Amino acid sequence: MKDSVLKSITAQHNGPIYVYEGAKIQQQYTRLKNAFSGVESLRINYACKALSNISILNLMRSLGSGLDTVSIQEVQLGLKAGFRAEDIIFTPNGVSIEEIEQVAAMGVQINIDNLSILEQFGTKHPNIPICIRINPHVMAGGNSNISVGHIDSKFGISIHQTPHVLRIVENTGMHINGVHMHTGSDILDIEVFLYAAEILFDTALKFKDLDFLDFGSGFKVPYRPGDIETNIEELGEKLTERFHRFCETYGKDLELAFEPGKFLVSEAGYFLTKVNAVKQTTSTVFAQVDSGFNHLIRPMLYGSHHEISNISNPKGKERFYTVVGYICETDTFGSNRKIAEISEGDVLAFKNAGAYCFTMASNYNSRFRPAEVLWYEGEAHLIRKEENFEDLVQNQILIDFKEKVEAN
Ligand SMILES: *Cc1c(COP(=O)(O)O)cnc(C)c1O
Repeated sequence: MKDSVLKSITAQHNGPIYVYEGAKIQQQYTRLKNAFSGVESLRINYACKALSNISILNLMRSLGSGLDTVSIQEVQLGLKAGFRAEDIIFTPNGVSIEEIEQVAAMGVQINIDNLSILEQFGTKHPNIPICIRINPHVMAGGNSNISVGHIDSKFGISIHQTPHVLRIVENTGMHINGVHMHTGSDILDIEVFLYAAEILFDTALKFKDLDFLDFGSGFKVPYRPGDIETNIEELGEKLTERFHRFCETYGKDLELAFEPGKFLVSEAGYFLTKVNAVKQTTSTVFAQVDSGFNHLIRPMLYGSHHEISNISNPKGKERFYTVVGYICETDTFGSNRKIAEISEGDVLAFKNAGAYCFTMASNYNSRFRPAEVLWYEGEAHLIRKEENFEDLVQNQILIDFKEKVEAN
């Protein structure tokens, strides 16, 4: 997005703010769709834990997307945003059987990744078709915090347990209608992904009445200039060809599903915050912004990199800054960054702030969560108001202990 647009949006708000570029979301959606245009029946289910504002969900739906959810609350948000139950898939991990039953009763496709739950569910509801999430034991990403397909992962049913799954299916008479995998968050190597896909195909052949195969996500987006990203086009070409051959062997044209989060929204997002103070120490120049990990925790939580620029002085001479927040704990957004000269009051823009940023925000230090704006077709739509003091206290209950303490 243009600095001038970001600047004018910031000028209309007090606190820090998230801005999302609708056109970028649309462009990514179209890119993925085009990469798999050779697949007759393609389904893209947006993984809404990345960014779950109901207007974003509505935009996704308008683009033709389905929805991937991990909690009953996300399902409810999806329905509120206009999705039909049949456009939603529920892919939870470690939630209660009761929650799964409630979501199933809404008519949402359920994906189960645990043998115990599969058996309980199949025994009670043999008529509800279920997708199973397998763990192919392949690590597609590099960072073990965000790779979920490896051997010690809590996600998925190990492929070595497929015989057990088959026995549960036989004993309960339940119907497995899909097989799913989600191997991790950063696909750098397409060959590794295709290797995991082979394992999914092998497993799928053991189930006779499937409707779809779900390849999850893990598409990598660039965070720094020159970063490698998943070559979606190459993946599309290779997987489409292989998928066709699989369908021939299987004897039925299945649906191919993906559930991208980051790929669709990461680059569309900007986080904007003002500089409260520039503080020089013996070795470092700190730029202290009007925010902290209460608003954007990814750099502190798992070391993710967000490019930071000074949109108030874009042509200024570049200097080195360590950008930190106002939280009373170490909250470094970026160390030793080359940024155009910063004065107090300048607005800094953080890139890649679309995925896992607002959705991880909290009220730590009793700060408000920021406003969100969706920029679409030249218009800034406010899609979430900044919180206020009332929001902070509305669920708290004030009990006056004065008398009790004095009576003691
Ligand atoms: C989080 C998640 C995704 C989305 O992952 P991205 O890396 O954001 O694309 C997809 N599927 C499942 C099951 C997830 O938990």
